[in-house]
Amino acid sequence: MKLGKRSVRDLDVEEGKRVLVRVDFNVPLKEGKVTDDSRIKAALPTLELLREGGAALVLCSHLGRPKEREPETSLRPASERLGELIDAPVAQAEAVVGDEVRSAAEKLGPGDMLMLENTRWEPGETENDADLSRELASLADFYVNDAFGAAHRAHASSAGVAEHLPSAAGLLLEREVVTLRGIVEEPERPLVVVLGGAKVSDKIALIDRFLDAADAILIGGAMCFSFFRAQDKPTGDSLVEEEGIELARSALEKAESSDCKLLLPLDLVLGEEFDAGTERRELDGTEVPDGWMGLDVGPRTVEAYTEEIVKAGTVFWNGPMGAFEMEPFASGTRAVAEAVAGADGTTVVGGGDSAAALASFGLADQVTHMSTGGGAALELLEGKPLPGLDALDDA
Ligand code: ADP
Ligand code: MG
Repeated sequence: MKLGKRSVRDLDVEEGKRVLVRVDFNVPLKEGKVTDDSRIKAALPTLELLREGGAALVLCSHLGRPKEREPETSLRPASERLGELIDAPVAQAEAVVGDEVRSAAEKLGPGDMLMLENTRWEPGETENDADLSRELASLADFYVNDAFGAAHRAHASSAGVAEHLPSAAGLLLEREVVTLRGIVEEPERPLVVVLGGAKVSDKIALIDRFLDAADAILIGGAMCFSFFRAQDKPTGDSLVEEEGIELARSALEKAESSDCKLLLPLDLVLGEEFDAGTERRELDGTEVPDGWMGLDVGPRTVEAYTEEIVKAGTVFWNGPMGAFEMEPFASGTRAVAEAVAGADGTTVVGGGDSAAALASFGLADQVTHMSTGGGAALELLEGKPLPGLDALDDA
């Protein structure tokens, strides 16, 4: 499968030319330190490729959702971490654009790196403002987008700026798009999709698309309770998304006439409260009694789902099977993660919490691809356009 866009590999960057690289350094922070640097690591191949070619790099990213200049959302912790990982100094600008930023950019030599401040400190960012796009473009000779996690947004730094410079896709963006498109468009069969997490409404479009494209969909997480309610089963105190019930009902109807099987849990692990220390019991069935809530899938479900995953040619997994953050309710998610990690087929994991679960079980490097973009991955799989990709020069 081809991307159809110019690749950073084919960009004719002469020694000392400046490249504005949109990265996704939207990373979690705690007390001024990056607590998960996987998105920074994922950008390294593109940054190293450009530096080896003698380019000077102007890096930009958003972090969090600030409406204006908010110091606690500074990119400084991320640029410090990048400096450690790439073993070279990364200068941190004080702003996104402006005279000081421009003169810092103009002083960059081959291989030098300057990180701009959080693009969302500029209100024009989310409005895809033309002036901001032009100002960003004026900092460099080329634009490379490697921020897959932001590619579903038509923002100034992720889309607008590409109108004003020769542009190309970074290696991460390319790998994400080619891998994820491959899942729906030309998967090795059977294609097995494991969906969990909290809300059906987040993932209904995905269920709909995969009822057409997949061979099996395995449902877990709190999401299953909307399905059980649609089947008029009691769900006790389980987390049920009311608006998800209708959506679940229509998915069940569609599944009846689809070649794709839609599997629901066969058994559950219950707790009295949403708390790691709560009373816990296993339920051989799915009718949750009053006073209890379903917090994980049970062993029979794990066995049935593992059987599907093991024989899959392609597995896509999004959303944990239970409240895995609490150890007594982590076994369903752990078992599914182990099955995915051990499967012979192509295995792709998307979604922030699923990726965190996989990492917490030490299995992150045992899947074919772990997507860095939650929302962007879901939108791509749903078949929606990615403005950050579409804006780039064609191949
Ligand atoms: P992802 O980020 O991988 O897309 P989601 O954000 O959709 O996943 O869902 C993850 C959350 O769902 C987790 O915080 C998990 O605790 C919660 N969850 C999963 N199953 C249950 C359940 N049975 N009851 C309550 N919360 C659940
Ligand atoms: Mg999540």
